[in-house]
Amino acid sequence: MVLVILSTTVLAACNKPDEKPPTEVAEPPLTYLDSPPIWNTPQEIEATLAAQLNSSNASINKLLAVTGDRTLENTLIPYNDALIEFERVYYPAYEMSQLHPDTAVRETADACYQEAQKFISGLYRNTGLYAALAVLEGRLDDPEATRFLELTLRDFRLSGVDKDETTRDRLQVLDERITGLVQEFDRNLAADVRYIELESVEDMAGMPEDFIASHQPDENGKIRISTQFTEYYPFMDYAEREDLRRALYMEHGQVAYPANEAVLKEIIELRDEYAALLGYESWAAYQAVGKMAGKKEVIYDFLERTAELALPQAELDIQSLLARKQQDDPAADTLWSWDGSYYSSKILSEEYAVDSQELRQYFEIESTKDGILGIVADLFGLEFRLVPNADAWHSSVEVYEIFEGEKPVGRFYLDLYPREGKTTWFSSGPMQTGVTGVQLPAAILIGNFPDPSSSDEPVLMEYGDVSTFLHEMGHVMHFILGGNHQWVGLSGWACEWDFVEVPSTLLEYWASDVDVLQRFAKHYQSGEPIPAELIAKLNKAKGFNLGSWVMGQTFYSMVFLSYYDQDAKDLDLLATWQEMMLKYNPYPYVSGTHPYTSIGHVVDYTSTYYTYLWSQAIVVDIFSKFKENGLMDRATALAYRRAILEPGGAVAAKEMVRNFLGRDYSFDAFNQWVAGK
Ligand SMILES: [Zn+2]
Repeated sequence: MVLVILSTTVLAACNKPDEKPPTEVAEPPLTYLDSPPIWNTPQEIEATLAAQLNSSNASINKLLAVTGDRTLENTLIPYNDALIEFERVYYPAYEMSQLHPDTAVRETADACYQEAQKFISGLYRNTGLYAALAVLEGRLDDPEATRFLELTLRDFRLSGVDKDETTRDRLQVLDERITGLVQEFDRNLAADVRYIELESVEDMAGMPEDFIASHQPDENGKIRISTQFTEYYPFMDYAEREDLRRALYMEHGQVAYPANEAVLKEIIELRDEYAALLGYESWAAYQAVGKMAGKKEVIYDFLERTAELALPQAELDIQSLLARKQQDDPAADTLWSWDGSYYSSKILSEEYAVDSQELRQYFEIESTKDGILGIVADLFGLEFRLVPNADAWHSSVEVYEIFEGEKPVGRFYLDLYPREGKTTWFSSGPMQTGVTGVQLPAAILIGNFPDPSSSDEPVLMEYGDVSTFLHEMGHVMHFILGGNHQWVGLSGWACEWDFVEVPSTLLEYWASDVDVLQRFAKHYQSGEPIPAELIAKLNKAKGFNLGSWVMGQTFYSMVFLSYYDQDAKDLDLLATWQEMMLKYNPYPYVSGTHPYTSIGHVVDYTSTYYTYLWSQAIVVDIFSKFKENGLMDRATALAYRRAILEPGGAVAAKEMVRNFLGRDYSFDAFNQWVAGK
């Protein structure tokens, strides 16, 4: 499943030099253990916004008012303080616009987030501020301060601070418009839940018992199956009736269509203009700056090479799936998208003896959650303490404080279950960036796992959910353990953005290890640990369909890259989608669907969706060391933590990998993996 994490990259905009004279505003004291704000009313958010932007402005004004020599103390530190104050409303506002159960709070959080976004883009185009910071270039002794300054000045330039006033004004307008459109895209997506209606329980033939139990006919005798993940994916995996799988697929492929077609088109056009104003050939070229890849050409090369290696494997996968379909329907000559998961499940259970329904009986949700938290804490030598009755935005949210010995390290929130008005994705988000001596890091893990309170019976997770949970915990640990830096711009997951899926993807491997799984995966009735043979079969089966998976990822990477790398005025979203499907997707396009209107990554990751495959390529390399020493080997985990997680953005990704592996990263292992060797 595709996962999202929020970009900490600020989309900057333009600003006029401050017209008002600096004013003195009382700054609230920063205390070390401050926790992020939890809001219950729209008024509280508005008050926080006003106070935080005021404090942030006060720090900037103090910095600008300096008349003598510029130093780290009188310039870079106040700038850092301004960012800390700003982020204290920016992140919580974004998260609450996605998560808060109260509609009015969500809407106000959304408006405040836009306001904060406007503020930060203004800051990044403040020419006076840029000039003040630039004076320090080449004059700082501290290496982290030097890196923070360099990255900051680069981001200012990427925001157009060095362009003329007309250009800066236009960039500011574009920023605000794009932010609004992206939010509109997400809102349309969340609002458009579609259904198919089944006539009877018999229509659910093939579905797991607990799914059937929780989908009983309504007063009109109909059973509704929605396009939300928790219903869509199980239905695609198990429902025997092809016509019904097809019907649900068709609904899913039209979510947020046509509303988002125009929204997406405008977003792409405005970004194209934005990149052009900054002197770049396209948004894709602009977005490649500051990534490990560095240039869009490197991304194309990487994806083309990957496709070349994976395509023959994907073709074999499709052949075997079609052959299996023909056992059910001898006249079948095409394997459709709605067949893929269904016949994969069949082959897995028949040929590899991996029965996903048997498998899920070892993953009752509460014990799996505790098990995963236990594994992650143990791996990194930490302790997660559940805070009883902690203040949060919903009663189902759990708050954990993280300790190393008796030293507090940070906290995380688990918001695991779907509810009305909540984002339907799985992701991790920041609540508060860690700053040494000032505040501890806090992150949120956002899930849409099956809710244990929805049934009197034990609720079981899919095996894939276990990987997803570990993936998101990888992000959370990166944010927390990378969150001990003085400079906010280097703290947390502030690494190059195409490296950001490395810690998350790596942790997914822990879901394949027999020793790891047997620590917590017990049969929900008998309490027996998961049999080693079952895991062995599961791992053997992992090679199956890998080619198709890689091609699917290559396809999304290519189509989004292509959307943002052509003349936006002539862009035909559907035609490009179809063209890329022909080249890279093992399944045929289905007439009447518009999947690009319902994929959030087309507006958030944009042309950098390749990040997932790129990170995967590095993970295959990094994992070799864990494979050698054992997945729960403390020394290896500690070395990994020191080399890869703790630096945050203070060390270039390439160097971090070298520090861990003792050599430069290489894609050789990935190429072998993709080619099925
Ligand atoms: Zn991720």
